Amino acid sequence: MPGDSATCIICGNELNLSEMKSVLLKKGDCTRFVHITCATSDELKKCIIDIATQEKEYYEDLMKISPEFKVESIRQFEEKYGTFNELSDYVPSDSEILIAALLHELQKRGNH
Ligand SMILES: [Zn+2]
Repeated sequence: MPGDSATCIICGNELNLSEMKSVLLKKGDCTRFVHITCATSDELKKCIIDIATQEKEYYEDLMKISPEFKVESIRQFEEKYGTFNELSDYVPSDSEILIAALLHELQKRGNH
């Protein structure tokens, strides 16, 4: 499990993961942290689309197990997304804040 800090693979400086100033980028086979300001506009756009895709899948899966919420369905959902006990060990990653940070950075750049 990663700690609170990582190294930006673009500028080589440390980044604090508890701040909304970094994103996970897929580079080939591996996924690395970079500063939002270090990522290219295309990479930021890809991050936003990735988050939206994951969130959409999450809520679609949630709708699939409703309205019955059978014990077996809930167990399968937890297998995919983690149980409350597993998730509560992490600092909650609020994707809405991250999306706002990414959109803000794109706007600053003029998004062209
Ligand atoms: Zn950087």
